Amino acid sequence: MNKKIFMDLLKSIIFFGGIFVLFYFGIQLLSEERKTSWFYSDIESQLISYEQEIQLGDLIAEHLIENNKQKVIQNKFIDSVVWAVSSHLQKQIELSEYDYEILVLDSPQTNAFTIPGGRIYVFKGLLEFCDSAEQLAAVLAHEMGHIEKRHTVSKLVKEFGIKIIFSLLGGDTLLLGELWETVLSSNFDRSQEKEADQFALKLLEEAQISPTAIASFFRKLNRENLDYNEKMELLMTHPHNKSRIKSSLEYKTQEGFKPQLINIDWNLVKKAL
Ligand SMILES: [Zn+2]
Repeated sequence: MNKKIFMDLLKSIIFFGGIFVLFYFGIQLLSEERKTSWFYSDIESQLISYEQEIQLGDLIAEHLIENNKQKVIQNKFIDSVVWAVSSHLQKQIELSEYDYEILVLDSPQTNAFTIPGGRIYVFKGLLEFCDSAEQLAAVLAHEMGHIEKRHTVSKLVKEFGIKIIFSLLGGDTLLLGELWETVLSSNFDRSQEKEADQFALKLLEEAQISPTAIASFFRKLNRENLDYNEKMELLMTHPHNKSRIKSSLEYKTQEGFKPQLINIDWNLVKKAL
């Protein structure tokens, strides 16, 4: 082999080998959490368009009501309160692909969850648990974070595979029940929770609501020592609540930020439930 070609080949091997070694050891240095989010988190949701995601959400929502899995409460006052709180936040989300819909389910659980496509379900027990409209806003802002970052749809694609999701969209609804169970009972990973919290802190600030509402909600959750459930949204992160409270209290708002209280008497809300 010509000496020059040999040297060029050697240089290339050293160059690409070096890149590989740097990449490999760089990846090893990342925490498990970062690795997960780098390699999996966003990739799944990119396999499905927003239109398909909204269609999937409609299917799950229909299943939820038709099969009497959950009952949506019919209370105009409560609906108007939830709408008022969520619209404070929605106004601040620029260029959202979603038309948000927030529904209250007749269940005593202190929890909330999202399904693909922009629906947030809040349990009646959560409204009873909250002390203020700001605490409800904190939870809704967090759930909106899961929606905008497409965490729910990426969880489903990861869990079931894109083929099953597409066959569901094509009319084969055999696995819809399982899909619904997964939405309700499986958790997000820690990096997704953190991402939703960061989204919520910023959104609350933009809506002129104090980001410390997140801390006050989770402090109360800790104080009341509700059933810790690793697989449930909001209740799953019990061991990490301290750092969550800390980041809410340490969040730096823009200079001159003056939080406003949402004009809702929460005692009236509790009485109406
Ligand atoms: Zn969450």
